Amino acid sequence: MKKVGIVGWRGMVGSVLINRMNEEEDFKYINTSFFTTSQTGQKAPGIINAEPILLDAYSIEDLAKMDIIISCQGGDYTQKVYPLLKEIEWSGHWIDAASTLRMSDEAIIILDPINESKIKSSLKFGNKTWVGGNCTVSLMLLAIHGLIKEGAVEWVSSMTYQAASGAGANNMRELLVQMGQLYDSAESEINKPNFNILDIDYAVLDKMHSADFTRDNFHVPLAGSLIPWIDQDLGNGISKEEWKGQSETNKILIGEYKSIRVDGLCTRIGSMRSHSQALTIKLKKNYEVDEINDLIKSSNQWVTLIPNDKESSIHNLSPSAVSGTLNIAIGRIRKLALEDNMISAFTVGDQLLWGAAEPLRRMLRILIDKDDSTF
Ligand code: NAP
Repeated sequence: MKKVGIVGWRGMVGSVLINRMNEEEDFKYINTSFFTTSQTGQKAPGIINAEPILLDAYSIEDLAKMDIIISCQGGDYTQKVYPLLKEIEWSGHWIDAASTLRMSDEAIIILDPINESKIKSSLKFGNKTWVGGNCTVSLMLLAIHGLIKEGAVEWVSSMTYQAASGAGANNMRELLVQMGQLYDSAESEINKPNFNILDIDYAVLDKMHSADFTRDNFHVPLAGSLIPWIDQDLGNGISKEEWKGQSETNKILIGEYKSIRVDGLCTRIGSMRSHSQALTIKLKKNYEVDEINDLIKSSNQWVTLIPNDKESSIHNLSPSAVSGTLNIAIGRIRKLALEDNMISAFTVGDQLLWGAAEPLRRMLRILIDKDDSTF
């Protein structure tokens, strides 16, 4: 059995990955070692075929004993450790959730429902670096897979509404702390039968602006507000998250499908889990809405088409409806009155599953299900 090291298993992506690996019984087929950057020597999760003690995630000697390393630890960790493993000519496979290596020539961005044949041919040619895509990119590609297969897309503008958990475990917790502080600030007025709504509103706003409002991770209020910027400022008015839309989409599509132009704004909102995106799509010709719906529905087994009516949309096309499932919901599909061949769509997917953990898990399965002689 292959020796698999997992780093970052207790973070947001890592813990969802472990759940999925348990559900799919992946641990039966591997010997697992859990690594940590902060708890070396402590007890590892009790999992079949796993070493009982947590190993040091900075021990190159221990890491190098692995056939496969999955890292959900983050970009700083990858930047530090991956080059050291390369330096000693470690011959194992590196599977990563962080963006650090995504655009490097040695890495394939993995999203196998879209680019399985590229993954498999790269594997044949000896590629060993596999990186999960940006969450909104992976979710968008799965949602409009049918239109991409058809070669129907000229460009996409994606306006995102990204969940707090997209920023990690501590940020998700901070959103709830902020919500609690806002509630506490207005509690006495909220509980009055004849409450004054403006008193509630002012109390909440005062709390958001106060020095003791918790904002260690987001730096600004997210609860009761939103953050119109995600990831680094590239200095040209574009955020790094927005830049990934065009660059990663086309790195995934190249060799499989025609390239498409992608651009838009990325925002953080106060949902707990699952990213939403409002898409404006310019199609290459005049498709009827029914044709578009058929293309989308038949593209992959995870996409769920939500009828474009109020009841279906409010009940089935939201983070609360989709979180914790592998469903990629897409709805609000209609022709826009702005220009010919232009449609709207709204899509929601669990960014911790298809946007992060699931492509890594499936890459692991591709590697372990593969004939050993070609490993
Ligand atoms: P995270 O939740 O912040 O976890 C990363 C590490 O932080 C953990 O492995 C853990 O390492 C440490 N940590 C510190 N305090 C913790 C706490 N209270 N609970 C849990 N872990 C804690 O990060 P993440 O969101 O999983 O992201 C990991 C990587 O995946 C990043 O590169 C990110 O960009 C990428 N990614 C994330 C998402 C997403 O939706 N979150 C989607 C796609 C890609 P030790 O156990 O070693 O201390």
